[in-house]
Amino acid sequence: MEIKFYNSLLIFIFIISIFVLLILFFVNAPYGRFTRKGWGIRINPKAAWFIMELPAFVLPIIFFLFGNKKTSLVAFIFLIIWSAHYFQRTFIFSLLLKSRKNSFPILIMLFSIIFNLINGYLNGRYLFYFSPVYDISWLYDIRFIAGFLIFVLGFVINILSDKILRGLRKAISREITNAGSVNGLEGSMVFSMANSIGMCNKFILRNNNNNDANKNFLYKIPNGALFKYISSPNYLGEVLEWIGWAILTWSLAGLAFAVFTIANLLPRAYATHKWYIKNFPDYPKERKAIIPFIF
Ligand code: NDP
Repeated sequence: MEIKFYNSLLIFIFIISIFVLLILFFVNAPYGRFTRKGWGIRINPKAAWFIMELPAFVLPIIFFLFGNKKTSLVAFIFLIIWSAHYFQRTFIFSLLLKSRKNSFPILIMLFSIIFNLINGYLNGRYLFYFSPVYDISWLYDIRFIAGFLIFVLGFVINILSDKILRGLRKAISREITNAGSVNGLEGSMVFSMANSIGMCNKFILRNNNNNDANKNFLYKIPNGALFKYISSPNYLGEVLEWIGWAILTWSLAGLAFAVFTIANLLPRAYATHKWYIKNFPDYPKERKAIIPFIF
């Protein structure tokens, strides 16, 4: 009975990935730089990221504890790898985030929670219950080694790129604050001041919507590390992680997650790239969206 339900969910993720890929090339998910009115109530992105990523961290741990692979070292290593990503995303990334307050639509958070529940179930239940026991020799298998290396590479790229973006947002806040304090100005006056002292050559400031907390909407051209080659190395890192995961677990659940991540992030990387080109006349021409030298 459960296996039928499980297989249906797995097929659902593969099918939905095709629609997600197609839809997201035309409609950008409305958070971050693409946030806009008409998507309902919004909350603080820190809280949103924490709440929506938490199920993906907790669920596989529960499946491990209540599964039939508790004594398997390989299963335990799978859990550590998965948890490393989701611990970082839930407890570190979300809390360090420098996004604007109250800019994350609850609706997007709910979609993400649903996806994370399904995905946590598909991966956790397979690896810690349905799968055949992975023998210890799996750790020397070329699929595990190659997948693990790809995962680690993606993990490092993702964290490093997100750190660079965070640094930009901090630098912008500092510049705005300095512009305000030097001139004794506050709030929207600081906004105008920053505009008038020519900061807009370096970053975009937009009066975004009717939410006061959202007034200063700030972006700079990111540089350093893989930003030299692509606009969204954080997304490339994420995609590599889940491709690596699919290979190292050699599972359909892992493959489904990798396919969904590609469907989700490829269009967003492309939209982000076009956004940079549109908003920054001096945006590096040679930079691609997500795959260096190619796309
Ligand atoms: P973004 O790159 O859009 O934003 C990351 C953070 O950096 C945000 O706080 C953003 O602010 C800020 N930022 C982005 N660009 C600039 C810039 N040029 N100047 C200043 N600040 C900037 O990433 P996402 O929010 O889409 O994703 C966050 C993480 O989650 C990534 O690591 C991503 O890989 C992962 N993710 C994974 C998905 C999956 O399917 N597995 C799906 C989506 C994300 P602001 O929010 O105000 O724009």
